[in-house]
Amino acid sequence: MSPRPKLVLVGQLSTFPWVFDAAERAGIDVILVPRGDDTTESAGRAAAVVELLPLDIEGNPEAALAALADRYRQEPFDGIMAGNEQAVPFVARAAKELGLTGLTEEAATVVRDKRSMRQHLRDAGLGAPGFVLIDNPDDWADTLTLRFPVVVKPANGHSSFGVIRVDDKDGIEQAVARTCKLVEAHLGADDGLAPEAGVLVEEYLDGPEISAESLIHHGKVRVCAISWKGELTGPYFQETTLRAPAQLPAEIIAAVEAEVVGAHHAFGVTEGTTHTELRLVGGVRPVLLEMGARIGGGGYMAHLAHVSSGIDMAVDALRIHLGLEPLCWREEPVPAGHAAAYQVPVGSGGRIKEIHGLDAVRTDPRVDYLVQTMGPGSLMRPYPDFSGYPVIVLSRHESDAEAEAYRAHLARTLYVEYEEQD
Ligand code: ADP
Ligand code: CA
Ligand code: CA
Ligand code: CA
Ligand code: CA
Repeated sequence: MSPRPKLVLVGQLSTFPWVFDAAERAGIDVILVPRGDDTTESAGRAAAVVELLPLDIEGNPEAALAALADRYRQEPFDGIMAGNEQAVPFVARAAKELGLTGLTEEAATVVRDKRSMRQHLRDAGLGAPGFVLIDNPDDWADTLTLRFPVVVKPANGHSSFGVIRVDDKDGIEQAVARTCKLVEAHLGADDGLAPEAGVLVEEYLDGPEISAESLIHHGKVRVCAISWKGELTGPYFQETTLRAPAQLPAEIIAAVEAEVVGAHHAFGVTEGTTHTELRLVGGVRPVLLEMGARIGGGGYMAHLAHVSSGIDMAVDALRIHLGLEPLCWREEPVPAGHAAAYQVPVGSGGRIKEIHGLDAVRTDPRVDYLVQTMGPGSLMRPYPDFSGYPVIVLSRHESDAEAEAYRAHLARTLYVEYEEQD
């Protein structure tokens, strides 16, 4: 490998800087395959990007793979990594074809399907809520034997889009119809939804939510950070806050790690990086909601891990996909503080008139990143629909209490004002 390794990054949205910044830190050149909805103008801007390689992965995966193989033959690159959830299966296939490090195609298929993940967890004797897949819109409600409350969701959704909690049998048909309709309405919106994947109804896991960020190299899993998302009780589930490290007793941390490591083995995830979401049922028993075989939050979960554990997770993820050993395998990193993420709630939705409080955040020394993806004029649809996250703030603090206080401060001062509706 040359002193400056080259990696193809597939579908990393260029408004999210974290993985590009990591590549720059590590001296890795990036060939960016822009996401379909990314404007080429912003796509090339990051310093680490040395080349743009547009491929129509969704529209014509065969041709995309052939074009990638052609590019490889012209001048080989050293690795390939997925920059978003939808790119995971394509990247697995390309890695295999080109002999590069990555997920197996089998594992990629499992982690792209919530139902399949559930099945594998059960087979491995790990926790999973009861669920049914509704692929036939008639003829299911009467036979439903799940314990209420339940959650209705697209089988291959994202960002809590179309996810609805239902407390009793009376509301279930309406909720399923609503989720189906939302999935239909989003088709062609370049978000990878497949209506044929169906809708899941599953038992509600009652307890706070956490997330775990992991690195996997030669089958060995390291859980780098566990973050606290808190109580999210619905009926809709927009994520607004995360704090790391989660303040949990050592025995619960150990139980979470065991569940997460077990899930990697159950799914056959042996190389790469993952974002795993879990609930702590009754506050103590970790049960997996889902796993994504990529860096979470469009990259920002790696920053949270970096601050809270000292592990430069995005750099180590890139290294793994280059076939290199992660740095944290050798050297024990030192935590730098408490990290927090805040995503401005969409609330009622509408056309954005103004986003208040941005200037104060921009100049706050506690803030590492402020990413704004929407501005005045943008149309935000309220949950359970989804249009994007308007603003993301990543900050660092001396303690978890200070991180929490800052979150409360942001909740008061940073908000979207919508135009009045007529
Ligand atoms: P997505 O792919 O849209 O993120 P998830 O399965 O992660 O789908 O669901 C989104 C959110 O909805 C979760 O983060 C969680 O807060 C809530 N949720 C989903 N399923 C359940 C469940 N079975 N019990 C409790 N909460 C759930
Ligand atoms: Ca998901
Ligand atoms: Ca999720
Ligand atoms: Ca999530
Ligand atoms: Ca699509």
